[in-house]
Amino acid sequence: MEKMLRGVGVSHGVAIGEVRHMGTAVLEPSAEQVPGQDTEHVTARARQAVDAVAADLLARGQLAGGEAQAVLEAQALMAQDPELMADVARRVAGGSTAERAVYDAFGAYRELLAAAGDYLAGRVADLDDVRNRIVARLLGVPMPGVPDSDEPFVLVARDLAPADTALLDPALVLGFVTEEGGPTSHSAILARALGVPAVVALPGVGELAEGTVVAVDGSTGEVTVNPSAEQRAALARVAEERRAAVAASAGPGATADGHKVPLLANIGGPADVAAAVEAGAEGVGLFRTEFLFLDDSERAPSLETQTATYRQVLEAFPEGRVVVRVLDAGADKPLSFLTPGEEPNPALGVRGLRTLLDHPEVLDTQLKALAAAAEGLPVYLEVMAPMVADRADAKAFADACRAAGLRAKFGAMVEIPSAALRARSVLQEVEFLSLGTNDLAQYTFAADRQVGAVSRLQDPWQPALLDLVALSAEAAKAEGKSCGVCGEAAADPLLACVLTGLGVTSLSMSASAIPYVRSALAEHTLAQCERAAAAARAAESAEEARTAARAVLSGE
Ligand code: PEP
Ligand code: MG
Repeated sequence: MEKMLRGVGVSHGVAIGEVRHMGTAVLEPSAEQVPGQDTEHVTARARQAVDAVAADLLARGQLAGGEAQAVLEAQALMAQDPELMADVARRVAGGSTAERAVYDAFGAYRELLAAAGDYLAGRVADLDDVRNRIVARLLGVPMPGVPDSDEPFVLVARDLAPADTALLDPALVLGFVTEEGGPTSHSAILARALGVPAVVALPGVGELAEGTVVAVDGSTGEVTVNPSAEQRAALARVAEERRAAVAASAGPGATADGHKVPLLANIGGPADVAAAVEAGAEGVGLFRTEFLFLDDSERAPSLETQTATYRQVLEAFPEGRVVVRVLDAGADKPLSFLTPGEEPNPALGVRGLRTLLDHPEVLDTQLKALAAAAEGLPVYLEVMAPMVADRADAKAFADACRAAGLRAKFGAMVEIPSAALRARSVLQEVEFLSLGTNDLAQYTFAADRQVGAVSRLQDPWQPALLDLVALSAEAAKAEGKSCGVCGEAAADPLLACVLTGLGVTSLSMSASAIPYVRSALAEHTLAQCERAAAAARAAESAEEARTAARAVLSGE
């Protein structure tokens, strides 16, 4: 019997194939005690396994590059936490086997994390993944993870660990569907970076029998179970039409009547530049520099290291535009030497610009590195601060940029509703705005972006979010300044048209989404986009907004 399920589409394309489930079984080693064992030898065995897993994660990271690399490196660091290793040694001394000691030590740490608040709880999945890998190695059994198969398949999982998504083989994994995760979760961002169709936040999909045929539409979020032959043919046709339209699109972003909307790429470092250039990005709209800071848990990278990395990116876009975001540490991206450890609500605590204003030397070094990197290049450098709340924040950032001798445009990210509500005031201090719709949704709806259960509220089609986008864009227009979008909202082709209709002046997204957005814009005039935007804002829910905009844009 065919059946339709609906989750959140996070990465474009259609995949039709058999379901294979991710091996998530938790390996629980025997709790039997071994009195009188050679504790040194057993501890050394555990350490070797930990080191091997950390090395494996680092190697996967190197293969994957970019943002995936940073996530995997953070996992490797987690594996080698000295306190965890000390706990393992204590447990071995108490008579545990190496595998049981690792299992229990990670279990104790897991409980601490889970109890410590939402952002740490969000890292529990990463910790479990590391533990499973170490225990599997010690037991000599296959690693949990992507199933082995010679035939291409649709991967179904509760959630995907970064280590798995980073190395998904697009030739074998046709697409993936997860029960958890939201549209802005790191798994979703990585899926887009890979260009694999993906749907997240689909509870119950884990119950589909192995081998069931499903059709996954990563654009609409629809998963058809046991599609009929006609349905398969229709879906394949739609996918083919979309692919052809996308392949035919080229050149700068513009509506059908020539209203220009530069299409820029979101990148995590130099490794993402090639894909951005290949997709025809007109520059970089968001360079997430925090990935550079994850390498060392003790200190910021040196001025020289930062300068060299920034220069590599700037050189790739001669005469193009590169928007660099200064370090956005804290909340879901904690840095131990900067982020306070004891906050009850880290997402509402010292993060983003607040962290930098507390550590002006870190901000100053980063700004000086950017100034040095841009020296002598014809690039249009723009530098922006994350988590700007008000005019005082914007002024503090602009002052720091001037003090560092940076010749660039200074901007503010709009991620906090207060900045959107008082955008004109913020714009007295900076030259542009960039809407970070992932965090703007999180703070507008009080909905943690890492929690799948509230993904309904993380939907960027929510009319309240569209209102805040409109307010910001109108303020920028009144001030004669620009207002782009660099959150994941820009990667949805239909929503990109609506954002354009709301007055947004550029769109920045994962490179893989650029051709889709370019082709959608090219099919509609600015007036159509404006009508779609008005219809979406008049709606009462995200779903209605989407339907209303689609109706306007398809001329229904
Ligand atoms: C955002 O919040 O929309 C954004 C672009 O920043 P990040 O996803 O890195 O927090
Ligand atoms: Mg953000």
